[in-house]
Amino acid sequence: MIRTGLGWDLHSLVTGRRFLLGGVEIPAEKGELGHSDGDVLAHAVTDALLGAAALGDIGELYPPQDPAWKDADSLVLLRSAYGKALEAGWRLVNLDCVVICEKPRILPYREAIRASLAAILEVDAGSVFVKGKTAEGLGIVGGGLAVEALATALLERPDEPPGGAASPVWGRRS
Ligand code: MG
Repeated sequence: MIRTGLGWDLHSLVTGRRFLLGGVEIPAEKGELGHSDGDVLAHAVTDALLGAAALGDIGELYPPQDPAWKDADSLVLLRSAYGKALEAGWRLVNLDCVVICEKPRILPYREAIRASLAAILEVDAGSVFVKGKTAEGLGIVGGGLAVEALATALLERPDEPPGGAASPVWGRRS
């Protein structure tokens, strides 16, 4: 069985905070405001994985009101969420992401972000992709007040074929 999941997140950008994407710190004038470390991409990926596995969402499992998650490393949340998916028999096939911000440029950090996410999810970097976009100067993202991230994840889980493993129907496409 395969399932897709979609994740989205947005964080305010303020001075005096780190700018983190998928666990990679990027030099920037402003960073993400958040109860945790504010890693907007890690949060979007976490929700994509949880959604694909139908296991809840990040706000439900790691509530921002909970002091346990104050300044939390978002990669710990991500790994915890993926661990729940693994326990349920799922594994990640591939992950695709979009980060939208006016600056900094994401492209110079893309490979580092891919490697960071791939390492925490124990997949090949070829199974993870990240694209940077701007908002063309429009809205709060375009105005540099916020950063937004989207992620889509494909999960796979081996299932007992209908009628048993020897069923001649299983896998037939016509
Ligand atoms: Mg968030």
